[in-house]
Amino acid sequence: MPLPVVAIIGRPNVGKSTLVNRLAGGKDAIVHDEPGVTRDRTYRQAYWQDRDFLVVDTGGLVFDDDTEFLPLIREQALMALAEASAAILVVDGQAGVTGADETIAAWLRQQTVPVLLAVNKCESPDQGLVQASEFWRLGIGEPFAVSGIHGNGTGELLDALLAHLPPTEELEEPDEIRVAIVGRPNVGKSSLLNAFVGEQRSIVSPISGTTRDAIDMVVEQGGHRYRLVDTAGIRKKKNVEYGPEFFGINRAFKAIRRADVVLLVVDALDGITEQDQKLAGRIIEDGRACVVVVNKWDAIEKDSHTIYEYERHLKDRLHFTEWAPTIYVSAMTGQRIDKILELVNTAAEQHKRRVSTAVLNEVLEEALNWHTPPTTRQGRQGKIYYGTQVASQPPTIALFVNDPKLFNDNYRRYIERQFRQQLGFTGTPIRIFWRGKKLREVERNNPNRATKI
Ligand code: GDP
Ligand code: GDP
Repeated sequence: MPLPVVAIIGRPNVGKSTLVNRLAGGKDAIVHDEPGVTRDRTYRQAYWQDRDFLVVDTGGLVFDDDTEFLPLIREQALMALAEASAAILVVDGQAGVTGADETIAAWLRQQTVPVLLAVNKCESPDQGLVQASEFWRLGIGEPFAVSGIHGNGTGELLDALLAHLPPTEELEEPDEIRVAIVGRPNVGKSSLLNAFVGEQRSIVSPISGTTRDAIDMVVEQGGHRYRLVDTAGIRKKKNVEYGPEFFGINRAFKAIRRADVVLLVVDALDGITEQDQKLAGRIIEDGRACVVVVNKWDAIEKDSHTIYEYERHLKDRLHFTEWAPTIYVSAMTGQRIDKILELVNTAAEQHKRRVSTAVLNEVLEEALNWHTPPTTRQGRQGKIYYGTQVASQPPTIALFVNDPKLFNDNYRRYIERQFRQQLGFTGTPIRIFWRGKKLREVERNNPNRATKI
């Protein structure tokens, strides 16, 4: 049973590590001994009341100037957030609000993860609360006045934190696949949900989800359990009149966040719209698996070209989710509805898949032989020493190279394409991190790999 993860975010020197030490008590750090990206993150086990969780310090968020994240650090923070159930933004109450705090807060507000605001260094009995209240301005919600050194306020912070951790019963079902059905209004989500539930001869039971009004539904088919997340969100609009432009996109984003596999439902009659693309973008950003469900296929007048034309349209408008399988269905007639969960199974498997370092490097070697990395005008050539998968859900690969700047987008896309062609990963996004490393370091850490490529 995986423990929920809480990410600690903030600029340097605000007291993040002091606070982590306090939350984790005396427990030792769990250093994931995988090379690459996760190596930089240290998880500490913590508990409060009856809940265990992991705290991960993302390291200080540093900026180019006061406004732009350094890309690598942004990547790291995104990765930490992607697996986190909640985040704590730590700021320095004695220093007051800084530009960097504002930038981080603005960025966090765009993420779907719930964020708590810890105003650290507020140990002063008469100044603490005043210092903290200045941080309402960040738009993150209630500032908690805490002191990592003295321990004041951390109890209230942890109480609030527990409310954001997933209920334990959700964690106890490692075998179920969480499926979110998302799409614009009127594409047929609730018809699809009804068709799904109608199909099941086996159990269907509603279970409360993480937030107050989110109801999940569990269905079983072919020995698999599927948790359809936030089915209340799908049905809700039936009772409420929203304006035509109301989209409930935030609710959709939250469902995506909680899912393993997202069914992106689009309307065959309308084709792919900007809103569909926006949802697809979020699915990639959150690293979720995806199946594109083209609904209302019954309503399309078809000839022998229709499907090809439609495929071309999809390829054109959803090219960034080309890896997602597409299925043409009708919630109304029930056509192919029973095939959707088969695609969900495949996508979920690929999402969790781990590829051995040996296989990965065989693919890399082959790719490098076909196409050597670019050389700059000054004669510097990109070198890839080796690659290894550092995480799954989604599959995440770190490539150790002499200098990431030597690899242009074209070449990066080529390598990703090779991974996909040789390894599949149908239905899941993959992440590739290009990490600069001196050859000497590679040899020291991994002597038998260094000369392989
Ligand atoms: P990080 O870079 O965010 O991890 O910050 P550190 O935990 O290393 O703390 C930075 C500095 O702030 C250190 O000098 C700490 O002693 C100090 N500090 C941390 N927590 C507190 C606190 O609650 N009160 C005060 N006054 N200082 C603190
Ligand atoms: P939601 O807003 O995405 O939940 O969409 P609904 O399930 O409420 O469906 C919106 C409209 O599309 C309703 O009038 C449905 O009857 C219709 N609809 C849904 N699925 C299909 C389908 O497969 N074929 C056709 N022709 N109409 C459909």
